[in-house]
Amino acid sequence: MNILKCENLTKSYGNVKALNGFSFTVSRGSITGLLGPNGAGKTTTLKIINGLITKYGGEVEIFGEKISPGNFSYRRKIGFVPEDFSLYEYMRGTEIIEFNGELTGKSGEKIIENLQNTFKLPLERKIATYSRGMKKLLSLYLALQTNPELLVLDEPTDGLDPIIRSKLFDFIFDYVSRFKTTILFSSHILSEIERISDRVVFIKNGKRILEEDIDSLKENSALFVVKAKSENAEIPDFVIYEKKDDFIEIRAIGNAKETEEKLLETNFEIIEKIPLTFEEIVVNYMEAHK
Ligand code: ATP
Repeated sequence: MNILKCENLTKSYGNVKALNGFSFTVSRGSITGLLGPNGAGKTTTLKIINGLITKYGGEVEIFGEKISPGNFSYRRKIGFVPEDFSLYEYMRGTEIIEFNGELTGKSGEKIIENLQNTFKLPLERKIATYSRGMKKLLSLYLALQTNPELLVLDEPTDGLDPIIRSKLFDFIFDYVSRFKTTILFSSHILSEIERISDRVVFIKNGKRILEEDIDSLKENSALFVVKAKSENAEIPDFVIYEKKDDFIEIRAIGNAKETEEKLLETNFEIIEKIPLTFEEIVVNYMEAHK
């Protein structure tokens, strides 16, 4: 069952089309990784979902209800870690946690204690003195404080050192398995996406170019090194290929089985079939789709 459905989202900033008919879904209990090049439209999408952008085209349905500018009640069930956290700089960490607890009616003492045991933020200090990474962690505290049904994270590990980054993923993983929280997150770090996602959505130029379960995407992607057996052997039109002297390298992404059948049918000899890493899959696919 879908917890979130975005349909045909459009958003322009002046002449810039940030979203150009973007559609995707997130199913309940899943971890979905949103990935795409700089400026692809990820932050814009996550802001729309969180009600921070209200002027846009298309529709967003969350928890089975369409969101509209006047209807913010759904936001109580979402925890959001924005790309940049720059609010309430004059407050101390403890104060903002207390404030958020009062505002939402959920003090989340236990989860804050667990977070603090792991990350040890200087909560007595003013937020203005926090580093970027500390602010990112603090916004995670606030997002988890209310025990949300849907956790939306915009580049959650941006600015974090490798040890904290790894702890953060362990924490989120443990949290999700206990509370069955649904997660939608964006990241440029492919190993992170690969490590925790069940499903990936690729966005480029404001449009979805791929949406698939990560395991089946990896299983069904391969590099074929092939040789034509006859003059008229034709490369299937749905693959990415490169001619090399006597051979042709074919990268099949999400369609290796179909590609293999087609290659054999169309008179190619398969010399080698090599699995692609997740990074190769993403880079090749992103480059091939304009
Ligand atoms: P990144 O990976 O670099 O964070 P992104 O995928 O999150 O990028 P967005 O921040 O959603 O991309 O931006 C999408 C497009 O909209 C970009 O071309 C960006 O320059 C533009 N854009 C975003 N916010 C604004 C704004 N407030 N005013 C003008 N243009 C904007």
